[in-house]
Amino acid sequence: MKYVLGAMGCPPAILMEVPGMSQMLERARRRGTELMAAPITEERPWVVFSSCRDKDSDLFFPETKVQERSALAICATCPVQNECLEYALEADVRFGVWGGMPEKQRRRLARRIA
Ligand code: SF4
Repeated sequence: MKYVLGAMGCPPAILMEVPGMSQMLERARRRGTELMAAPITEERPWVVFSSCRDKDSDLFFPETKVQERSALAICATCPVQNECLEYALEADVRFGVWGGMPEKQRRRLARRIA
């Protein structure tokens, strides 16, 4: 398994193997996101840069509007929001907050772009 070691310590050879990784790093750097060591997964390599990576995942399956707003506030700072939303739409993820959108909003968007 390959690992991202952090914004400044990433071996370029590893970054080259993940499409869009250098752009993600640049966005993370601009937003001041601290990167951490984490495995690169084939399916969602961008997850290592996500603002929710160290947050309670229950927050992203909110039961109240207050919880939903908290999750959306985290998404608003996320450097990989576009990648996350694209993944959720392509994988037809039905539940939870993904890509800065709660499920209803994602369903509406999916219908519009279908
Ligand atoms: S957009 Fe939101 S749910 Fe998706 S990775 Fe970022 S913080 Fe997590």
